[in-house]
Amino acid sequence: MSFSHLGLSPEIIRAVTERGYTKPTPIQMQAIPAVLSGSDLLAGAQTGTGKTASFTLPLLHRLSENSVKSTSNKSSAIRALILTPTRELAAQVEESVRDYGKYLKLNPMVMFGGVSINPQKRLLQGRVDILVATPGRLLDHVHQGTVNLSQVEILVLDEADRMLDMGFIRDIRRILSLLPKQRQNLLFFATFSDKIKELATGLLDRPKMIEVARRNVTAETVAQKIYKVERDRKRQLLAHLIRKDNWYQVLVFTRTKYGADRLVKQLADERIQALAIHGNKSQSARTHALAKFKNGSLQVLVATDIAARGLDISELPHVVNFDLPNVPEDYVHRIGRTGRAGASGEAISLVSVDEYHLLADIEKLIEKRLPVEVVTNFGVTSHTKPEPIADERKHTPKDSPRPPRSNTKSLPQKSAKKSTPRRVTGSKKFDARPSSSRRGAKRSDR
Ligand code: AMP
Repeated sequence: MSFSHLGLSPEIIRAVTERGYTKPTPIQMQAIPAVLSGSDLLAGAQTGTGKTASFTLPLLHRLSENSVKSTSNKSSAIRALILTPTRELAAQVEESVRDYGKYLKLNPMVMFGGVSINPQKRLLQGRVDILVATPGRLLDHVHQGTVNLSQVEILVLDEADRMLDMGFIRDIRRILSLLPKQRQNLLFFATFSDKIKELATGLLDRPKMIEVARRNVTAETVAQKIYKVERDRKRQLLAHLIRKDNWYQVLVFTRTKYGADRLVKQLADERIQALAIHGNKSQSARTHALAKFKNGSLQVLVATDIAARGLDISELPHVVNFDLPNVPEDYVHRIGRTGRAGASGEAISLVSVDEYHLLADIEKLIEKRLPVEVVTNFGVTSHTKPEPIADERKHTPKDSPRPPRSNTKSLPQKSAKKSTPRRVTGSKKFDARPSSSRRGAKRSDR
């Protein structure tokens, strides 16, 4: 099966081919014909499955086929609206639209908060066919009368579950009320919930339904392990692990924005260069950190789940859960960034006693007990007996990092390479509870 079999125009196929794609991914094989047929769509797919192209390519095709319909009046007549939960995802999606549509005469635009609104207003005075937006900033434009949504033919809600988790439901409903009744709706989610069901029921008209398999998080290429460690020694352990094998491109997840900033400072004290990316950072700081991380000039990027969500940073060698996520599905999203496309990667979790219940939830979800790795002198709790040190010579004191500044007496010196496999339990795939009962919803878009 190739892209030309899916009925896409030669201009689009040319752009896709130039990008190096030879074969559609499973979500693309299913979604592209469905969208081309004009149906509404309810699609379950995570980042990394090729979902962006699965709606962008047929959307471009449909708009370019009916380009005569496009109004020629001066005010913007936006024909497709793509809503995303985060600024970074909006920027990435628009980049894809631009790239896949480069041989078509359609103008995309991206808008999100955290940056000046005036350049966006100026762009809106010109022709915009496809608008990629975060809900908060779009409503700011609505309130100022600078955007016209009355000609929207196709609506895409990308990562709708995350938008709901972030508290965007009222904004979304308000935006929906401004769109023409006659339109095509595409709703993408990563994790199904009652809230998604409710939104889909009200929004979609006899939708085609697609769900592609979740990425296999237990893929051989991702080595998952946990270190049991006292909470206040996590940063020392992290610094030790990074330095020991001179890790580069380490993506570290913390649960809070404050925790991310604090960790960046602490790593700087250990002379490890790190930057944070989260909702309180200015857009330029986020873009700068991400660019440095992607081009390999930043050793460590510390991120919260919301900021990292949907980012196209993949095939990372090291992902570290400095804090375990409250929502087990986020563990899957986080570690899905390592070892993609056959590259090997390592996903490490630093787990303190107060997080054991979160670890249990994660292991239940992934149907697997995670092996425990031990580094001596790092506060391993009593019930996990350290394995004997495999190779003493490797870890002589001269290899040890310089002393941590805290009041701890002993240094991290030895790492036991052997893991302690544990019993496999649990069989539940999804936590079907409404996500509202599981998450601390926070919006960080505006
Ligand atoms: P997404 O799930 O949209 O975030 O896409 C994940 C990654 O897969 C992106 O880097 C895309 O550029 C890439 N991708 C999308 N479609 C294909 C394809 N058919 N073949 C190879 N790579 C693809």
